[in-house]
Amino acid sequence: MVEKISIIGAGIMGNGITHCFALHGYDVNLIDINEEILQRALQTIKKNLARQVKKDLISEKSANETISRIHISIDLAQGSDSDLVIEAVNEKMEAKETIFKKLDSICDSKTILASNTSSISITELAAKTTRPDKVIGMHFMNPVPVMELVEIIRGLDTSNETYNFVENLSKSLNKTPVEVRDYPGFISNRVLMPMINEAIFCLMEGVAEKEAIDTVMKLGMNHPMGPLALADLIGLDVCLNILEVLYTGLGDPKYRACPLLKKMVSGGKLGRKTKEGFYKYD
Ligand code: NAD
Repeated sequence: MVEKISIIGAGIMGNGITHCFALHGYDVNLIDINEEILQRALQTIKKNLARQVKKDLISEKSANETISRIHISIDLAQGSDSDLVIEAVNEKMEAKETIFKKLDSICDSKTILASNTSSISITELAAKTTRPDKVIGMHFMNPVPVMELVEIIRGLDTSNETYNFVENLSKSLNKTPVEVRDYPGFISNRVLMPMINEAIFCLMEGVAEKEAIDTVMKLGMNHPMGPLALADLIGLDVCLNILEVLYTGLGDPKYRACPLLKKMVSGGKLGRKTKEGFYKYD
């Protein structure tokens, strides 16, 4: 029986993952570097639960119970007796590596260590630990409470037992798991990011205005949102990091990040989270 889940990182993805596990009856420790970030994440979860109540998707009682199952902390050691720890910190290898090493040293031997990374090698992260058979990728989509897919990434040494555990757990959240082997960008970002990057090149080269680029992809390809609006939702810094991982990992110039994307990230225009990316947000 799964008793305790811990999530490291209370940003966009961490709060969404926490929301889903707690809503489905799991006790969750949500861990970040400071109290202010954690309180903000809790407020976001409350707001998103309230939206689900308003849409009659869940009851008010269920929303309140969900909140009561979430325990916030700034201490990584809070997660040490968990069945599963999911790391959802910034897409930087050094940051993830430090956390995996620390988790490996403090966690119970049964604890499975998962990463929500969009593109970093699970095999490489696993190699930083003494339990590579218990390391796996659990790649949720944004916004987590809404999106059905979880890409489950097998590192070179991930055991079948670990895979089956994570697959069953994903199903218990009403998600659809898809098994993927560990190559840069997995499936989702290897296919998605070149499209987003090309849309940014179109904008930079003046092929069309941003609205026109997004409209073509929405109405012409039946995508629910255009690539530039999607990049704003994902975070332009996250997009840039993923493209850099694809470029380095696959060694193919077709993955080079568009200079306009680099410029926007340098200028702090990261999308919705900074209230400005390709579009402005209130
Ligand atoms: P984010 O910037 O919104 O949040 C990252 C959080 O991690 C921040 O709250 C930060 O304070 C925290 N953090 C950093 N170092 C920490 C540490 N040492 N200990 C505890 N907390 C720490 O990032 P995000 O968009 O939520 O992305 C998180 C991960 O999920 C990344 O690996 C990203 O690639 C992946 N991902 C993102 C999306 C997306 O659409 N944003 C989708 C799928 C996967």
